[in-house]
Amino acid sequence: MSALLTGRRIAILATDGVEGIELTEPHRALEEAGATVELLAPQAGSIQSMDHQEKRESLPVDRRVSEADPGDYDGLVLPGGVMNADKLRVNPTTICGSDLHILKGDVPAVTDGRILGHEGVGVVDEVGDAVIGFKVGDRVIISCISSCGKCENCKKSMYSHCLNGGGWILGHLIDGTHAEYVRIPFGDNSLYPVPYGADEEALVMISDILPTGFEIGVLNGHVQPGDTIAIVGAGPVGLSALITAQLYSPAKLIMIDLEDARLEVAKQLGATHTVNSSSPDAVDQVMAVGDGIGVNVALEAVGIPPTLELCQAIVVPGGHIANVGVHGKPVQLDMEKLWIHNITLTTGLVDTRTIPMLLKMVVSGKLRPQQLITHHFSLDQVEAAYDTFGNAAKEKALKVIITA
Ligand SMILES: [Zn+2]
Ligand SMILES: [Zn+2]
Repeated sequence: MSALLTGRRIAILATDGVEGIELTEPHRALEEAGATVELLAPQAGSIQSMDHQEKRESLPVDRRVSEADPGDYDGLVLPGGVMNADKLRVNPTTICGSDLHILKGDVPAVTDGRILGHEGVGVVDEVGDAVIGFKVGDRVIISCISSCGKCENCKKSMYSHCLNGGGWILGHLIDGTHAEYVRIPFGDNSLYPVPYGADEEALVMISDILPTGFEIGVLNGHVQPGDTIAIVGAGPVGLSALITAQLYSPAKLIMIDLEDARLEVAKQLGATHTVNSSSPDAVDQVMAVGDGIGVNVALEAVGIPPTLELCQAIVVPGGHIANVGVHGKPVQLDMEKLWIHNITLTTGLVDTRTIPMLLKMVVSGKLRPQQLITHHFSLDQVEAAYDTFGNAAKEKALKVIITA
């Protein structure tokens, strides 16, 4: 080969997309063989590689959109026109507090007939044209956030605000995981391979609740070694924050909830103190644990005004309030007190950018989110699963696993 190429001048036409990336290796091989390689930029709008063009012709736009979603949402089609979704057979999945918010009507963007669910593990059944990282038969973890991985926000790992139509769309703007099959947009960036032999029910906790508690609670709240932390709300997300806060060795972890049964679970998962917020002296109890001055970090994991007001009452000067809860109405912020006490308040929708790290910790057994699983149902018992999760206090339910 080298004898044929030495001294030759070869031009390669740079195209956009996957084809352009695939040129890297032949380019290098040609240079190593002695050719002078010149990269030519295509004239604007003039060039499509044959492969790209053939795909466009064989896949009419209407079919791509209808396959992507029965509604009129077109966020699954990249600007280049190639669908990059994966179709998965879902098993297992679970129900989230946000699904209950949707059923109550708190999320008006959800239209009638939408299939809910944004968490789960599955097996790839079909691979979209532009997906390069997965093949049929791969076992994968679904991120609750779908993202292109290429736009300005995705480049900053702010996947929750993907500018190409991603974000929290699954079980919200497009059909979700409470079904036998689901289509996951932007498969390459929205799925993670299941490591061989991993506990797949534990991995369902990585789709949403573990990264939400960690990113929006622990990381936004700047939990530090030796800190005193209060977590308001001992539901699955609050308990996920409790589990992941311990990665930073806080000195005291106070769990606050209305339900004694949940506070007992919190103790088993590492809470050093518990306070029942129905008690008239709940604030005094927290302040006593916080050496009379309060807590360094107050995590709100409920999403109603009284719990965020409680966080404002217990945080120390210079401390952090990290709001994790899903709020449906305005909350009073006592700015006249917060500013002079140097309080930082953070909010956020999870990006799931920490899934790779959390996955390693779960597989190694350093984190055991399967401790949050209390009930199992089959897919045809999904209504019973919703009833149980919706009556969590009575049923002593945390996460319910649904298997197909
Ligand atoms: Zn969720
Ligand atoms: Zn993006």
